[in-house]
Amino acid sequence: MYDISKIREDFPILSREVYGKPLVYLDNGATTQKPKVVVESLVDEYYSVNANVHRGVHFLSQQATELHEGSRETVRRFINARSTSEIIFTRGTTESINLVASCFGEAFMKEGDEVIVSEMEHHSNIVSWQLLQARKGIRLRVIPITDAGELRLDVYEQLFNERTRLVSITHVSNVLGTVNPVRDMIATAHAHGVPVLVDGAQSTPHFAVDMQALDCDFFAFSGHKIYGPTGIGVLYGKEEWLDRLPPYMGGGEMIKNVSFEHTTFNELPYKFEAGTPDYVASTGLAKAIDYVSALGMDKIYAHEQELTRYAMQRMAEVEGMRFIGTAAEKDAVISFLVGDIHHLDMGTLLDHLGVAVRTGHHCAEPLMRRLGIDGTVRASFALYNTKEEVDVLVEGIKRVSRMF
Ligand code: PMP
Repeated sequence: MYDISKIREDFPILSREVYGKPLVYLDNGATTQKPKVVVESLVDEYYSVNANVHRGVHFLSQQATELHEGSRETVRRFINARSTSEIIFTRGTTESINLVASCFGEAFMKEGDEVIVSEMEHHSNIVSWQLLQARKGIRLRVIPITDAGELRLDVYEQLFNERTRLVSITHVSNVLGTVNPVRDMIATAHAHGVPVLVDGAQSTPHFAVDMQALDCDFFAFSGHKIYGPTGIGVLYGKEEWLDRLPPYMGGGEMIKNVSFEHTTFNELPYKFEAGTPDYVASTGLAKAIDYVSALGMDKIYAHEQELTRYAMQRMAEVEGMRFIGTAAEKDAVISFLVGDIHHLDMGTLLDHLGVAVRTGHHCAEPLMRRLGIDGTVRASFALYNTKEEVDVLVEGIKRVSRMF
């Protein structure tokens, strides 16, 4: 059913070597590799369809527009949004969060108003709000975590007050792998009349997400983390919110009529898409979504969960192994440290064995501070990783450990 060797053939890069050793790519949390269908769709579009989208009367422009808008429908279906008006193409999660911080902040926040975030956020979901803090004098309230890396939901409930305007939380931690109970957290926020933005950068590649079931108000994710091209991502927003937000950037596409006296803005989602969109990357993203959908998100999830369990079990054999993030609900991300071996040394030596892992603070310095460390080694899995690759990782870690 889940034919891993056949799947791996779809990803040419996986058969290359580094330092004369087979590549074991375990840095999927940073970005995933691309299947042929995605890369070929980019080449095909440039070679045979390329033309700027929207308003073009000529054949190519109309064909390119159909592809681009078809991709929007593919995204809508994938995340079960009500309408394509709710799907805004951005450059990625970072831009999507910044868009909400900027536009929501402009429309609905004033000095002293509060945004609830958590201790496990990626910098993009911290600094975007700090920029707003500098402009408007808003305050950040932070949900603490337990030592296992789970959110303190008891504290979360106490953070709401009459100044709370938005909750902005990650669905899955890119460091701890913790899957946060966002559905319940959204229900709690809504009970206080507060909307929620979910950072889905690390959830969308691993399991199905459903905007209507989650009932979230905004949701952000990146194409490159879900086997799609770089430079494209999505902001989902409920129509009733997007309608009430001012535009993000000014330019072509986002207007209805322009005069020096008065400009009117385009309808959704174009109001938030100033300038020429990356219509080639949107095709690539749709191909990536088609690819994972054909495999089945449930099967991908089952495969990665099994790999993660196997990896945790095997890695625990290593003397001095310390897992950073042991939440009950954990995704395919394993952060660790071994004894007092520096994460950078571990990562560099593993690299020479062909194993690509990430080291450092993973764009989550406040989380590192909370954990009292300056970084971790992180192995993160994707749909094409195998138990044999986990074995190479474990043997590598043991070998490095022996050296110290
Ligand atoms: N949020 C999380 C949880 C992430 O893991 C990342 C990427 N590491 C981002 C946001 C930012 O994504 P991008 O760089 O694609 O905008």
